[in-house]
Amino acid sequence: MDCICSQRKGSGMILCSDPKAQYLAYKSEIDQAIAGVLDSGWYILGQQVQTFEKTFADYVGVSFGIGVGSGTDAIHLALRACGVGVGDEVITVSHTAVATVAAIELSGATAVLVDIEPDFFTIDPEKLKSAVTKKTKAVIPVHLYGQAADMTAIIEIVQKHNLYLIEDCAQAHGAKYNNKRLGSFGHLSCFSFYPTKNLGALGDGGMVVTDDEKLAKKVRLLREYGWEQRFESSCAGLNTRLDEIQAAILNVKLKHLDDDNAKRKTIARIYDEQMGDTSLALPKKRENCDHVYHLYVARCPKRDELLEFLKENGIGAGIHYPKPVHLQSAYSNLKNSSDLSETEKICNEIISLPIYPQLVEADAKMIADTVKSFS
Ligand SMILES: *Cc1c(COP(=O)(O)O)cnc(C)c1O
Repeated sequence: MDCICSQRKGSGMILCSDPKAQYLAYKSEIDQAIAGVLDSGWYILGQQVQTFEKTFADYVGVSFGIGVGSGTDAIHLALRACGVGVGDEVITVSHTAVATVAAIELSGATAVLVDIEPDFFTIDPEKLKSAVTKKTKAVIPVHLYGQAADMTAIIEIVQKHNLYLIEDCAQAHGAKYNNKRLGSFGHLSCFSFYPTKNLGALGDGGMVVTDDEKLAKKVRLLREYGWEQRFESSCAGLNTRLDEIQAAILNVKLKHLDDDNAKRKTIARIYDEQMGDTSLALPKKRENCDHVYHLYVARCPKRDELLEFLKENGIGAGIHYPKPVHLQSAYSNLKNSSDLSETEKICNEIISLPIYPQLVEADAKMIADTVKSFS
């Protein structure tokens, strides 16, 4: 889903994100890890998944990690574990990957979409406050593009109304807010390991993390037929397990996550420095935050022309996302009480410039120069 910008290589096109380059960077370690699983004869919920659940939860700074099939399923199960379902409302943003909203719908609850802070592209706490009703059960802030939502304000609202806080960390592996890792603020937090993410598998994968033992147990039951133990279902569950091979790959890549994020930040710094006096509005950094630049998203009034110009110059920029969720036909029935004008405005201006750990600095400078020659 993050691949609208990933034009096929071959023509030497620089991609917006490049999961194959990430594989090649750690190829021998990854190949060895995959061979290890194949040789082990244990292909579902084995040692690799267990190790990854433990190490990733430790990395985030919480007690429990439950590997699941995707980021979408992580959010879906987190909501179900909280008892959220039909008749309940869950507040999130329209400016996100459609998966966030799809997961709410899967739980049976109604998604209530509110506007964003245009400076940071994350949920506007004032709009969130006015969207709370008696039916509201949970809030899902999305830490979009690798940067935290305004957690202090959000936590205050959540506590005041006694709601569940579920973080969507699908774009924010390793990012911090006030020196704490994202994923350690919510009752439950959800990660995706889709290949282009900051921590990406070579297939699908996701995880729910939490400090709450009861919620952890519930998610664990839900991911596998509601099994309390083998062949003994204590609730109606699903089958959405993290694959053992993907977990082995993730165990390799987790060791490199901080280095990879540092490389993303270097590229972002080059863009910041080189494009300061262009017509682009560059992404702003929230105070006391560590932004991990899943995407480098700038705003440009002549966005479509810029996109075309970059393409002609071999640069595959992207748009995340071209159409807000509430304007998509599947979700036209959602009744949004609030005004979504910032969301609707920015989707015509945003552009994602290529950023991934293996993008070399010379290419980043060339991309910045190309943008400069446009404006
Ligand atoms: C990628 C993503 C998801 C969904 O993850 P999948 O693993 O593709 O299901 C959810 N929310 C956001 C913000 C994402 O970027």
